[in-house]
Amino acid sequence: HGADHLSLGRELERTWAEKARAGNKPQMETDLFNWHLANLEFANADRLEVLSLGQWDQDDPYDFDGDHVWLPGGNVRLVSAMARELPIFYGHAVTHVEYPAPRSDEGPNGLAHEGVVVTCKNGREFRADAALVTVPLGVLKKGSVSFEPPLPERKSRAINALGFGVLDKVILLFPKPFWDMSVDTFGYVTRGDRDRRGRYFMFYNYAKTEEHHLSGGAVLIALVSGEAALEFERSGAANVVAETMTVLRRIYERRGVTVPDPIDSKCACWGTDEFAYGSYSNISVGATGEDYDALAEPVGDGLYFAGEATMRRHPATMHGAFLSGMREAARISERMRELNKAGRLAS
Ligand SMILES: Cc1cc2nc3c(=O)[nH]c(=O)nc-3n(C[C@H](O)[C@H](O)[C@H](O)COP(=O)(O)OP(=O)(O)OC[C@H]3O[C@@H](n4cnc5c(N)ncnc54)[C@H](O)[C@@H]3O)c2cc1C
Repeated sequence: HGADHLSLGRELERTWAEKARAGNKPQMETDLFNWHLANLEFANADRLEVLSLGQWDQDDPYDFDGDHVWLPGGNVRLVSAMARELPIFYGHAVTHVEYPAPRSDEGPNGLAHEGVVVTCKNGREFRADAALVTVPLGVLKKGSVSFEPPLPERKSRAINALGFGVLDKVILLFPKPFWDMSVDTFGYVTRGDRDRRGRYFMFYNYAKTEEHHLSGGAVLIALVSGEAALEFERSGAANVVAETMTVLRRIYERRGVTVPDPIDSKCACWGTDEFAYGSYSNISVGATGEDYDALAEPVGDGLYFAGEATMRRHPATMHGAFLSGMREAARISERMRELNKAGRLAS
């Protein structure tokens, strides 16, 4: 349990420094080590310094088998397919949720269920027998949605304890691919200290080919992780295209490949996005897998929680988010059946 209160990053760096002192390590090995740290910061979407040494990988035993896959046309295709029959109100940012306390007067003669009232920034109100909160953990941490009564101590503690860091992407569209089309990804090892190592350390090949229609054109995605991602957002992603191009030219021009300027570019800055305030959850120093369970617990009579940060075994993933939705759909459906049977549905 002592390891739950130690930092993964600090322990890794301390161990490496000891080995380097003892073994006269070549600089190249240290550079490679730093690249792997950047890669780990990408996988956890946070600085290794904040991650719990004992708990950061508590979900590993539950990983599904099989390769990672990229969905041609983007993940939005899954979302669109699932949302086909659903009414969705865009431009309705939720600011306040009022929910009923659990009631003891269950049974056929009990009072009607009070229901949940959800208020939006544009003033619109929604009333329902149940509400499912799926805003990202970053939004809960920020407090941009208030709850009445306030969320219980156990849930608030979990919201504070779990981490929600940043991983960003720079998307570049080129006239045509100039890179090696036989690889999915390629890395860039640089002389990076803790602050710089995550800057464009890896590129994803999203180019459209005869066989793969991953995107609409010759697209490369550069990753920015760790401290570099925070700095990237603080600077408002200034000079980002010029910097990424410097890296790409450093990699390719020494091989005699001419690297053209991109036709278009876009940056994802999740840390400053008001509907995310970060990328995905992690277990930071002092937190445990139990905090994910606390986030998943229903509150009062009618307020439910889903989303990646409610999945102890599959956090930080799309499939985790999806499965949490199924879990809560079952829970809500069961409760509504009970209320209906007792003639207590509010709506
Ligand atoms: C850069 C990056 C790379 C990733 N790579 C992978 C990967 O390779 N594989 C993988 O499985 N997962 C990956 N993930 C993680 C995955 O995207 C998330 O775990 C998943 O999308 C979380 O789903 P969710 O439903 O919990 O939250 P979200 O998808 O964030 O949905 C929350 C929704 O709430 C909305 N919202 C926020 N605030 C409000 C408000 N006040 N009122 C109303 N609506 C609000 C948001 O607009 C959003 O639509 C990645 C994430 C990032 C950022």
